Amino acid sequence: MRLSRYFLPVLKETPSEAQIASHRLMLRAGMIKQASAGIYSWLPMGFKVLKKLEAIVHEEQIRAGHIPMLMPTLQSADLWRESGRYDAYGPEMLRIRDRHDRDMLYGPTNEEMITDIFRSHVGSYKDLPLTLYHIQWKFRDEVRPRFGVMRGREFYMKDGYNFDIDYDSAIHAYNRHMVSYLRTYERMGLKAIPMRADSGPIGGDDTHEFLVLADTGESEVFYDSAILDLTFGDRHVNYDDRAECAQIVKEWTTPYARTDETHDAALYDAIPEARRRSSRGIEVGQIFYFGTKYSEPMGATVVNDKGERVPVHMGSHGIGVSRLVGALIEANHDDRGIIWPEGVTPFHCGIVNLKQGDAEADAACKGIYKALSDKGLEPLYDDREERAGAKFATMDLIGLPWRITVGPRGLKTGVVELTSRRTGDSEEMSPEAAVARVA
Ligand code: ATP
Ligand code: MG
Ligand code: MG
Ligand code: MG
Repeated sequence: MRLSRYFLPVLKETPSEAQIASHRLMLRAGMIKQASAGIYSWLPMGFKVLKKLEAIVHEEQIRAGHIPMLMPTLQSADLWRESGRYDAYGPEMLRIRDRHDRDMLYGPTNEEMITDIFRSHVGSYKDLPLTLYHIQWKFRDEVRPRFGVMRGREFYMKDGYNFDIDYDSAIHAYNRHMVSYLRTYERMGLKAIPMRADSGPIGGDDTHEFLVLADTGESEVFYDSAILDLTFGDRHVNYDDRAECAQIVKEWTTPYARTDETHDAALYDAIPEARRRSSRGIEVGQIFYFGTKYSEPMGATVVNDKGERVPVHMGSHGIGVSRLVGALIEANHDDRGIIWPEGVTPFHCGIVNLKQGDAEADAACKGIYKALSDKGLEPLYDDREERAGAKFATMDLIGLPWRITVGPRGLKTGVVELTSRRTGDSEEMSPEAAVARVA
């Protein structure tokens, strides 16, 4: 992409309404624009990052054997009356009446709708196990929308639902989700810690939240620092292997890690003192096992191998895709701007032309652009007629992992400058060497 042809409306001033770094930086870097309280337009660069996160979530869900689909944003109130949640959900639900006076709502989550789809089409234990998911906009009329996309009213969420014949199979689905989530966050360059949590209005017995540690997080968390040493890495997982998934879950849930809702002071005090940590965290996902809470009242049953009709065991599993954009920036920025992890960066490399219009510099930039593109990378070429200082400031603000700086002086001796956004280290080398290093 050539910056002169892109739409990247960066702001010079720090917007006064933004209280935390990620919100400020998303506005300043031209990623989002507020449409109304807690509702945002995703401008091209913000949209690009959102789609990258979405792609990672899809890949990891499909790898785990979960099946993508799409449910609508608007739902009929009738389904929610069946589960009893229409009245229970309270003012966070945006209620709408259509022209025929039918009660509708903008979905805050999809347990009822997916249970209805399941009961309409599945009747035998032979069709289980089944896990369906979608990535769709949700609406919750939060009392205090704030921090930009971190606590929006409209937000983008992956929510998945498992249907299983019994408790053991449903717990395997739960474990599969935990494993796939660990991989997902790690691929995004994030450390998200699974913490035992409280089940809240969805209800149920087993639940973990995934938290990214950050001072600006809204949750209070307590953990054993040993959990920070765990990494998923590139281990291969057989998602059908119950024992293997259970073992990985055990590894990640053995060190103490809880949110304030389930915090147990006695257990915490038993951790060696040097490893006790309490801090703030951002909830970027949550998994639940809730058994027959919806299948029973809504009649989602199958015939088991003895010919008896039984309600299915279910769970639901969410990832806050749009919140993750903010959480990633909270965890990866400095006073000059964003520092994107390689796996989610909107462009892989910035190219800064120090002398636009200089035939040699222009040609060198074009050559680097083509070489990067040929390797399947996406460069962002700053080809504007701007001062070098302004170009550098923009690149620092938008936080691409690499910058290649091209100017007539360097080109005389055949070099360009390669700069790492994360370390700030710069090195002179041939254009070919720079391209090779980025790729
Ligand atoms: P919170 O405690 O932050 O209100 P939640 O527990 O109500 O979140 P869940 O029902 O568990 O949310 O939804 C799954 C995920 O969706 C959350 O882990 C979070 O990442 C994301 N999410 C929830 N509410 C919002 C919101 N208002 N804005 C952006 N993302 C959200
Ligand atoms: Mg909430
Ligand atoms: Mg929560
Ligand atoms: Mg939650």
